[in-house]
Amino acid sequence: METITPSRLDIRFGRFSERSIETDFRTYELDAGYRSLSCILPLLGAIFLGFSLPDLLVLGQGGFRTALFLARLVFFIVSVAALRFLRSDVTLLRREFVLAGVTVFGIAVFGFAMFMYRDGNVYLQAMSVLLMVAAQSLVPNRFSVSVAISLVIVAIGVVSVEFRAESMPMMTKAALLVDSLLMTLICSIIWLRTCRSRRHEYLKSMELEHISRTDPLTGLGNRRYLADRLTEAQSRSSRYGESYALILVDLDRFKNLNDNFGHEAGDEALKETGRRFTAALRSEDSLSRWGGEEFVILLSYATVDAALESARRLRLVLSSTPMNLVGRVTASFGVTLLRSSEALADAVARADLALYRAKDAGRDRVEFEP
Ligand code: GH3
Ligand code: MG
Ligand code: MG
Repeated sequence: METITPSRLDIRFGRFSERSIETDFRTYELDAGYRSLSCILPLLGAIFLGFSLPDLLVLGQGGFRTALFLARLVFFIVSVAALRFLRSDVTLLRREFVLAGVTVFGIAVFGFAMFMYRDGNVYLQAMSVLLMVAAQSLVPNRFSVSVAISLVIVAIGVVSVEFRAESMPMMTKAALLVDSLLMTLICSIIWLRTCRSRRHEYLKSMELEHISRTDPLTGLGNRRYLADRLTEAQSRSSRYGESYALILVDLDRFKNLNDNFGHEAGDEALKETGRRFTAALRSEDSLSRWGGEEFVILLSYATVDAALESARRLRLVLSSTPMNLVGRVTASFGVTLLRSSEALADAVARADLALYRAKDAGRDRVEFEP
């Protein structure tokens, strides 16, 4: 199982220093946020389109107003159509690109409207608040991008005020600019805190997730972890036709070991077994503690021969070198091939038949059950 070291979890400027964790987080957030985005996007598009009414009342008829209406209509269509590209089967980069595209398009329509309005302070303020909220929800948890978008909106406001309101007193212009910058600053502080706290929450939930799938004594995966790996293996198996094998391992005469050396020495032997098996397996194989002194290994891409070969290797890895406190430890191995849609318990029960034969035949050996 993958362990996460604390230094990789640093959060700087509202993002994880470690790229892969940041990517995992953003993927997770986009998946989790899909439902709210599927409400926000059409709503935003509808509000943008709804502004056609004040356009009509304030700007009257004319070619530019029709162009503005068409731009609003296209934005509405784009914001609804974008949802198709935000589903979880689309790559993170493409999804973020679509979101950024919608945001930039929204800003462009906003800028266009700003230039059309001769005296639109109220409109300007209403729209800029709306856009800042939109930028926040459309670019989820990207502090730098959110701030950049807000600054672009402020810049559009400044340029349009400069072009449009020649008669506006200097002090009013300055007050408007300061007002916008202050709002951006306040929003930025809130965004930074949100970005940080969302990432902390993510870490906590990942930690809980990790704990719920880890055996506390050996640090190996537990049954729940194995059940997840099995589901993944079966879906890959049905998609690509890959075969998997399962090995059930039971340490031999472990009760005697406890009785002779004490329970703590027994615990150490279980941990050492986990370490030796981990070192001997490939990264794509999954080792878990099934319970007590039993382990289960899910072998990827395994034929019968390869699975038997792996089990024999594990048997030697355990029995060939004595352990520190307790001396030589051996185990019996039951091997079976995984069937396409069977339950974990059924596969383990089959491996258990083989294991039973191994015990019966004198222990410290490998048996196979088709
Ligand atoms: P066999 O070769 O037939 O498997 O004999 P065995 O003694 O290993 O089998 P049995 O099922 O009789 O005993 C299993 C023992 O494993 C009993 C229990 O005390 C011990 N055990 C189970 N969990 C732990 C654990 O977490 N730590 C320690 N130290 N011992 C454990
Ligand atoms: Mg047992
Ligand atoms: Mg045993």
